[in-house]
Amino acid sequence: MIDQHPPPPLGSGTLSGVPVSTSSSEAASAADLAAVAELLGRVPRGVVGIAHRCPCGRPDVVETAPRLPDGTPFPTTYYLVDPFAASAISTLEASGLMRRMQDRLATDLELAAAYAAAHEDYLARRARLGSVEEIEGISAGGMPTRVKCLHALAGHALAAGPGVQPFGDEALELLAADGGWPATCPHGELAGVPPLTDPPA
Ligand SMILES: [Zn+2]
Repeated sequence: MIDQHPPPPLGSGTLSGVPVSTSSSEAASAADLAAVAELLGRVPRGVVGIAHRCPCGRPDVVETAPRLPDGTPFPTTYYLVDPFAASAISTLEASGLMRRMQDRLATDLELAAAYAAAHEDYLARRARLGSVEEIEGISAGGMPTRVKCLHALAGHALAAGPGVQPFGDEALELLAADGGWPATCPHGELAGVPPLTDPPA
């Protein structure tokens, strides 16, 4: 089981329908959704786009609707769906990195301002997907004043690109410096998951 919080937006249904994207993310193709289902082991619900891809082309961050098809509010718009990525970030979390990050917010005003701006960026991106009253003003990962989930922050950093999500950027830089994901594709080791037959153009 992947140690990731909140739990993924899993469903037990079959892949059906044509997903639409109302944001800057790419629309998810049927091949993308199949790849995500293979990575997660189940079909994700509420996917409206692909926010980031592994170097091999597999989706590693999906953009999820702020309200799932069953009505559940879902604040984690940018969700890491790759088990290698989730595991690498769990290792960083276990190292105590989040506590050190949060401590820095108290003394580094520039960092605190950047983190607050990242919170606003997250809300603005999600607002383009629709308004959900229950999660209004609530972003993800502990923003704007706490650091509670590096998975959510790294997902945001990958979706937004460098310079928007300071702690997500830091986490990704640490992982890249180790040479693994996201610098290189880990999926050569992923037995049972065939290469995508429908790679992105
Ligand atoms: Zn890959």
